[in-house]
Amino acid sequence: MKKRTSSSLDRRAFLQTSAAGLVAASALSGTVRGADKPIAFAIHGGAGTILKSTMTPEKEADYRAKLTEAVTAGHEVLKKGGKALDAVVAAIVILEDSPLFNAGKGAVFTADGTNELDSAIMDGSTLAAGAVAGVKRIQNPILLARMVMEKSPHVMMIGAGAEAYAKKMGMPFVPPEYFRTEQRWRDLQKAKEEEAKKKTARRVVNPDEKYGTVGAVALDSAGNLAAGTSTGGMTNKKFNRVGDAPIIGAGTYANNASCAVSATGYGEYFIRSVVGHDISALIEYKGLPVGEAAETVLGKVAKLGGDGGVIVMDRNGRIALAHNTPGMYRASIDVDGKLYVGIYKD
Ligand code: ASP
Repeated sequence: MKKRTSSSLDRRAFLQTSAAGLVAASALSGTVRGADKPIAFAIHGGAGTILKSTMTPEKEADYRAKLTEAVTAGHEVLKKGGKALDAVVAAIVILEDSPLFNAGKGAVFTADGTNELDSAIMDGSTLAAGAVAGVKRIQNPILLARMVMEKSPHVMMIGAGAEAYAKKMGMPFVPPEYFRTEQRWRDLQKAKEEEAKKKTARRVVNPDEKYGTVGAVALDSAGNLAAGTSTGGMTNKKFNRVGDAPIIGAGTYANNASCAVSATGYGEYFIRSVVGHDISALIEYKGLPVGEAAETVLGKVAKLGGDGGVIVMDRNGRIALAHNTPGMYRASIDVDGKLYVGIYKD
């Protein structure tokens, strides 16, 4: 198992912005090319120690296929003139339903052997936001987050209360076993062994060092941005621990004045760095390009000792897919309709 240290992170050896992001950014640095109503879409499926050397060709093909399916589904919504929010939800539902990712089916296990799911969504046009944390029987937490945003006066609901609200609103439930996959169960056993060896409960152990959260950012033809994120959190989490994904301004943020952001990584550091809002502020107040804003804030996360990645889209559809981990599952379709799918460091 690869171990990351803060000094290796400080070197920012793996910090990168995807080629797709740079191409999109340069294509748009002068006048907006093509249509006067650009659309763009991007997703991630988690960042971490994702190495070609430990990946089988079959598994890699599965990941690429699912990323392509999800990014295309979101982009199709936009192509038909649909809303950024609908595109974000369409892609995240596909990723939640896939056992490949740590969201919905295939979510990681808590120390108690349960799955507790967190999700958030934000509408950049109104700054409306919805989030749920610690839900255990909702197949697609992103749908419940959206319901909280659109149908309740609140922004965030947790645990039993969030599920009671879902029930009241007629949302179907799945049994808790629905989320179980054997791989994630084995990950929990490994994490527990590691923890026993280290005799420390402070760090939330993630044996794969691969986070697997999913997220999406979109720009629709009306010029509106949206962001969404969904996760099972981190393997072996305890005490109803909640990460950054459902925290508005940390793992999820969207604002038409700046950008849409979805993050993945070691959540505690992303909360402390207020990653989503910090990236947005650099763009809104300082006019930084998406790639530079993303790298600046990931650098701050690394300095604290954390790692992970972000996808960022600005109001012109410029995309940054940045991570300071060896890999991040990611895909985008830029303003020129160009598809990009990436897993490892480019
Ligand atoms: N950020 C998530 C959390 O800390 C984990 C992940 O990205 O996979 O809960």
